[in-house]
Amino acid sequence: MKQFAVIGLGRFGTSVATTLYKMGYEVLAIDSSEEKVQAIANDVTHAVEADATDEAALKALGMSNFDVVVVAIGQDIQASILATLVLKASGVPRVVAKAQNDLHGKVLEKVGADQIIYPERDMGIRVANNLVSTNVLDHIELSEEHTIAELIVPASFHNKTLGQLNLRARYGLNVLAIKRNEEILISPKAEDMLNHGDIIIVLGEKDRLARFQQRE
Ligand code: ATP
Repeated sequence: MKQFAVIGLGRFGTSVATTLYKMGYEVLAIDSSEEKVQAIANDVTHAVEADATDEAALKALGMSNFDVVVVAIGQDIQASILATLVLKASGVPRVVAKAQNDLHGKVLEKVGADQIIYPERDMGIRVANNLVSTNVLDHIELSEEHTIAELIVPASFHNKTLGQLNLRARYGLNVLAIKRNEEILISPKAEDMLNHGDIIIVLGEKDRLARFQQRE
């Protein structure tokens, strides 16, 4: 089972740490504030007071043994950069760091962060997308042009096979999976039929997905 550490227990870090713990993962939560550490102590595996810019302190906590370390320090940009640098230098396989802005993100990338998160910006994009697309449950941006979206099957698709609907030719959408109740049918075939209540997971160009939704 993967082991996680989260450094910086603001709203974002706390949410990441407690959610992972609720999902059954081992989570070490770290903050330089004793108050923050005490507040989260019952909702994670271990909570420790430490300064993330102190290389020796991180070493003593055995950070290199964790699969993923999330650096969720926001306002103290210098501390976030230093912590990321130290973690990567000590061999942590995956460091995910939260950025306040583009410049902060670029520096985090330069010092080795494997993934940069912009919580406010990303959430804004997600909310805006959800507001305009009523049948999109969720989406992942693969690139500037491509997206994977989870869609409620529109009524006009009920009792039709993927072959009949021909979404690839009509909208450039590839159906990766069909979710039906608790089941998930991966790589569905042309003869698979869509039913009321089904959810399809499609991969395609953003523009073409938007056009598809406008049509629906
Ligand atoms: P959020 O938006 O997630 O609430 P934020 O972006 O405002 O948070 P901060 O409140 O600046 O982020 O920082 C998050 C936490 O990181 C704070 O609890 C703070 O005590 C902690 N923190 C800041 N610097 C360090 C450090 N050097 N070592 C460990 N923790 C730190």
